[in-house]
Amino acid sequence: MHKNHTLSIVIPVYNESANIAALYDDLVGAIGDHVSEFIMINDGSTDNSGERIKELQARDKRVRIIDFTRNFGKEAATTAGLLEATGEAVIVLDGDGQHPARLLPQFIDKWHEGYEVVAGRRISNEKAGFVKNTGSALYHALIHFIHGQDAEPGDTDFRLLDRKVVTAFNELHDHNRMTRSLVNWLGFKQTYVDFKADPRTNGPAGYSLRKLTRLALDGLTTTSMRPLLFSSLFGAVAFMVGVLLGAFMIIEQFAFNDPLHLGFSGSAYLAVFILVMTSLMLMGQGIQGIYLANIYGEARNRPLYVVREITKPHGK
Ligand code: UDP
Ligand code: MG
Repeated sequence: MHKNHTLSIVIPVYNESANIAALYDDLVGAIGDHVSEFIMINDGSTDNSGERIKELQARDKRVRIIDFTRNFGKEAATTAGLLEATGEAVIVLDGDGQHPARLLPQFIDKWHEGYEVVAGRRISNEKAGFVKNTGSALYHALIHFIHGQDAEPGDTDFRLLDRKVVTAFNELHDHNRMTRSLVNWLGFKQTYVDFKADPRTNGPAGYSLRKLTRLALDGLTTTSMRPLLFSSLFGAVAFMVGVLLGAFMIIEQFAFNDPLHLGFSGSAYLAVFILVMTSLMLMGQGIQGIYLANIYGEARNRPLYVVREITKPHGK
């Protein structure tokens, strides 16, 4: 580890009064001399996390506090921290102690090796609970099914980002955001540090099942149009079946005078009529959805590309 680099630590804090001081001590113990600033975002905590981090600030001039007016969520807090950070590298980690500070020297070494993103990869988390584990396994399976590619399992927001990455990240305007997928979208040279998530030191996880479901749905609907295509496709198939069936019934009955003695009832015609109409509606909905998705894509206003650097010949 070299010393002459500026390093920022960003910590979103929501009701972590029982954890934050211990985390600070761990950080100081692990990489204290290398840190030029600790940015703690108080995301509308309802316990006394606010006072706790002010106590830390009184002890350590490097502590900077961003105090939100209310709870805006971890993604917003992380975004605010990254915008405020000035270091040549920025480390983002959870305030509950689940992202072990003792691994940070490894992150920094990888950064010095030339990696621009170093991500913590969780290998197991026995205490996460059945619902959450199953939920996250299902989520990854679903992502895999819908996108046809794998979202790295165990991917976390425990990350070191080079200044170049932070600058590019700050250009993203997405409102529905998931930090780790945005960082992945940016590209850059990335590597992993594996870790076993420590059990949460104190208090319950701030993400309720409802919040997680919401996040998962956002993750699905904001990244892919494939679900919309299913609706159109289903509509198109039903439409074809309906039209063929209807044509067959009419020709068989009226052009050939029912040679097969099928004697279709009035409700059979009605059923086919309804099938054709509903399939048209499904197709229409799918098409509307695709327009909507395109508008959404434009509204996010993401940069078209991300440049690492532009080089020119020396002496010009
Ligand atoms: N957090 C936040 N705002 C929220 C929820 C959580 O800033 O609305 C912070 C929380 O204090 C912690 C990190 O985000 O530092 C991760 O939260 P949590 O441990 O609840 O999530 P999990 O570990 O289950 O992903
Ligand atoms: Mg946690």
